[in-house]
Amino acid sequence: MDLGLHRDVVFREQLATKYLYRRLSADLVDALESHYLECNECYEEVRGTELLIRGLAAPVIERRQENDVTVIRFTESSQLLAASLELAELTKAIRVEKDTKVLIDLSKVSRIDSTGLGVLMNCYCHAVKNSGALKLLHPDASVKQVLNVTKIDSVLQTFEDETAAIRSFDRLQAPS
Ligand SMILES: [Zn+2]
Repeated sequence: MDLGLHRDVVFREQLATKYLYRRLSADLVDALESHYLECNECYEEVRGTELLIRGLAAPVIERRQENDVTVIRFTESSQLLAASLELAELTKAIRVEKDTKVLIDLSKVSRIDSTGLGVLMNCYCHAVKNSGALKLLHPDASVKQVLNVTKIDSVLQTFEDETAAIRSFDRLQAPS
């Protein structure tokens, strides 16, 4: 597939951006990856765009306080996969903060993989160690299935109703 990467640099930049945000079809991803891995010029373009996005992009994560609970949500459609920007943002958001009562709204998350699950579990352990908790809100059907298959839903409490979720943090028990 000729993507025309060398004919139009603006187009190439747009393609790189869409690629990094995982907005490309599988066909285009394959074509772009097989090309840029062998083409230094395009590889540099993709890496450069990635650095730019990491540094300058509007935050994909929004956080707000509800009483002492931090509610984290994704502002746009997101995927919690290894190497996805959204996952990097989530990790950063939770590491930077000292919050121990965290509710993560997953309604905009369409996919999650083992790396994404690992990040959630790390965050959960961090919260529990500090007498807090990490809970999930509104996972979509496919994410719910992954949580179920991996039995992570038996550890991470999942809610469909935000008010109920926030209220549930009041009943946290002291660590034994
Ligand atoms: Zn190239």
